[in-house]
Amino acid sequence: MKTSIIGYPRVGSLRELKFVSEQYFKGEITINELHRTGAELRAAHWKTQQENGIDFIPSNDFSFYDGVLDTACLLNIVPARYQALGLSPLETYFAMARGYQGEQGDVKALAMKKWFNTNYHYMVPEIDDSTVIQLAGTKLFDEFQEAKQQQVATKPVVIGPFTLLKLAKYTGTKQAADFVGEAAAAYAAVLEQLNTLGAAWIQVDEPALVTDLSPADLALFSKLYEQILSAKGTVKVLLQTYFGDVRDCYQTLQTLPFDGIGLDFVEGKESLALVKQYGFADHKVLFAGLINGKNIWRNQYKRTLSLIEELSASVKQIVLSSSCSLLHVPYTLKNESRLPDATKRHFAFAEEKLQEFAELKAVLAQPNPYAAAQYVHNEGLFNGTRFTNNEAVQAKAAALTEADFTRLPAFGEREAIQKAKFNLPLLPTTTIGSFPQTAEVRANRFAFKKGSITEEQYKQFNLDRIAECVARQEAIGLDVLVHGEYERNDMVEYFGECLDGFIFTEKAWVQSYGTRCVKPPIVWGDISRSKPMTVEYSAYAKSLTSKPVKGMLTGPVTILNWSFPREDISLQDSAFQIALAIRDEVLDLEANRVAIIQIDEAALREKLPLRKSDWQSEYLSWAIPAFRLVHSGVQAETQIHTHMCYSQFSDIIRDIDAMDADVITFEASRSDLAIIDTLNECGFQTEVGPGVYDIHSPRIPSVDELKQGLQQMLDKIDIAKLWVNPDCGLKTRGEQETWASLEHLVQATKEVRAAL
Ligand code: GLN
Ligand code: ZN
Repeated sequence: MKTSIIGYPRVGSLRELKFVSEQYFKGEITINELHRTGAELRAAHWKTQQENGIDFIPSNDFSFYDGVLDTACLLNIVPARYQALGLSPLETYFAMARGYQGEQGDVKALAMKKWFNTNYHYMVPEIDDSTVIQLAGTKLFDEFQEAKQQQVATKPVVIGPFTLLKLAKYTGTKQAADFVGEAAAAYAAVLEQLNTLGAAWIQVDEPALVTDLSPADLALFSKLYEQILSAKGTVKVLLQTYFGDVRDCYQTLQTLPFDGIGLDFVEGKESLALVKQYGFADHKVLFAGLINGKNIWRNQYKRTLSLIEELSASVKQIVLSSSCSLLHVPYTLKNESRLPDATKRHFAFAEEKLQEFAELKAVLAQPNPYAAAQYVHNEGLFNGTRFTNNEAVQAKAAALTEADFTRLPAFGEREAIQKAKFNLPLLPTTTIGSFPQTAEVRANRFAFKKGSITEEQYKQFNLDRIAECVARQEAIGLDVLVHGEYERNDMVEYFGECLDGFIFTEKAWVQSYGTRCVKPPIVWGDISRSKPMTVEYSAYAKSLTSKPVKGMLTGPVTILNWSFPREDISLQDSAFQIALAIRDEVLDLEANRVAIIQIDEAALREKLPLRKSDWQSEYLSWAIPAFRLVHSGVQAETQIHTHMCYSQFSDIIRDIDAMDADVITFEASRSDLAIIDTLNECGFQTEVGPGVYDIHSPRIPSVDELKQGLQQMLDKIDIAKLWVNPDCGLKTRGEQETWASLEHLVQATKEVRAAL
C-alpha cells in the first residue's frame, strides 16, 4: 500500500523559521539568510518523509507565513494598496501578512481568521472589483523543482479555487460566482505548467467541502472543476478534503474526472458510510485519511487495518493518508527529554507519524498483517491501562444529576439579591482580569522556573505587584477590582500546570499563525485538583480593599479546546472532569470571601462544529452544561461573571444566556456593537459588559469617544444590566497606555452617570 502526507509542519522542529523571520522583520538578517533557512527546512522535511518511504510527499506546503496567503499571491489576489507600496514580491507578501509601516507607506495587515475547526489562523484573501485572478506566482513550481533536484518527486499542493473563493472577503460588488472563469483558467494554467514540468500528481485542497453546502455552493464547485479538469493533461488531480466528511457533494466528486479523492476517516463521521452507500469509482484512487493529523496519540493499527478492510470491499485503489496536514501537530518527540518513555511511547508527533506510515506499510505487506511484530507491539500499547485512573473523579462524574447543572435560585431572584448586596453604582466599571505582563513580571517567573530565586521570593514579587495594582485600581475609581493575573503565563497553561492529569512538553510547538506558535498541554488521564490554585492571590487582593475583588478562573471548555484531548474518552467526559476541578476552586474562592468570580470561556465559540446540524448534538449539549456545572454550587449572593473573546455569537446567543452566568463581558468594540441588537431581540437576561475599547491596539481612547460608545449602548441596553469594561485582558499592553485608558473609562462613566 502506498502512503501520502497532506502537508508537513514548516516552522522547524526548534522553530527555526520563526526566529529567522523575526530577525528578518527587525532588519537583523538579509532576505538571503531567510531564504536559506527556508530551503534547509524544506530539504530536511522532504528527506525525513523520503526516509520513511512516503510515496506521495507534498511540496509547496512550506510557507513563510501562511498557505492561503501563498495561494492568493500565486493567483494575483493582491489588493492595490499593497501593490502600491512598490516592494519586492516577498516584502509585499509580508506587508499583507503583517502590515507595513515605513518609507513606502502605511498599510494594515489583511484580516486573519481561524482555519476551520483548528487553532491555526489563515490570512483572509481580499478581492475587489478590480481584482484579476490569474497565475502570477512561481512558488509552487519552484518548490516542485527544488525537490526534484534533491531527487524527491513531490506532489505539489495548493488550496483549491472553491475553498479560496469561499474564504475570501469581497469588498466590491462582485462575488465569488463572478470569478469562476478567471479562477478556473488560473488553476488550469497551474496544471498545464505542472504537465510541462513532469509532475505526476497535484493535490488540490478543498476543506470547504466538509461544511454545509447550499445548491449555489455546489453549482460553484462543479462549474469551477468542470472547466479546470477539461484542461487536464498528464498530471493527475487529487481532490483533497479534511476536517470532516463530504456528505453534500460525495456523488459530485465521483462524477467529476478527478484521479484521486482524499477523504477524512478520522473526523469525517459519514465518510465510511458514504463510500459504502455510493461506492467508489474503480479508476479513481481513494486517499484514505486514517492517521490523525490533528492529535498526538499513536495510531491504533487494529482500527486502521479494519477500516482498510472495510473500504477494500468498495474501493479498488487505496492510498494510506493522513487525515489532514500534519501542520497541526508538533514535530518530534526527540526534543522531549523530560517525559518518561512510558508516556512518550503513546505519542506520535509528525515524525513519529511518518514512522507509523512506514510500519503500517510493512504490516500490510505481510501475508498475515495481524501476526507482524509491529502490529503486535502496537496493539500492546492499547491493552491495559495507560492512564493513571482516578476513581474518585470518575465516580463523581458518574454520579452527576440534573441538579448539579442547575444554579438556584433563578437568575432574576439572584440579580435582586446581588444588587442589594454589592450596592454598586449604575454602570459598574471593571476590567477583564490581567494587567500588563511587564518585562519584570516575566523575568520573575523565568527566574523562578530556572531556580535562581526561591518560591517565596517569586511569590512575594507577585504579591507586591497585586498590592500596587489593587491600590491603583482603587485610586482611579474602578468599582470591581481584580488581582492582575501576574502569576499566569497563559490562561490555560497556568491551570493545566496546577491540575493533575495534564502533561507538558518542552518543545512541542504548533504553529498558530505566522511566526506564532503555541504549546498545548496534553490531557493525560483523569483530571483533578489536589489543592487550591488561585485562592491565595485572590484572597490577598481582597484583603487589601473594601471594594469587591473578582476572582479569575479559566472555564473547562476553553481549557479543553486549547489542549490535545484524549481519544479514549469523550470530550464531554473530559470537560466534566475539568469542570468538577474548577468547581472546587469556585467554592474555595467563595469560602474565602471572594464574592465575585469570573470564569473565562474565551474559546467557547471557536470549536463550534463545522456543520450546524452538529452544533447541539456534538458540542453545545455538553459545553454549556460543563460551564453550569462549574458554578451551580455557589450561594445566591455570589456573582458569577464570564468572558468571551469572540463576539460573533449571535447564532448561539440563547446558549450563551443558558450558561446562566450573572454577568458576561465580551469583545464588541471592533464589531460596531452589532451584537447588541441580537441581545435585545432574544431577551438576553444575563447582565452584559460589551467592551468599550479595543485592547488589541496601544491607542488610548478619549473620554469623549468612550462616552459616545456608552451612550450608544445605553440606547439599546437597560441601564440596570450594563457594565463598563475594556474588550479583553490587558496583559499584552504597556503600563502607561493601560492606566491612561482606564482613567478615561472611569471618567467617561462618571460623566454619563452624572448626566442621567
Ligand atoms: N482573564 C483573562 C485575561 O484578562 C482573559 C483572557 C482572554 O479572554 N483571552 O487575560
Ligand atoms: Zn478576551
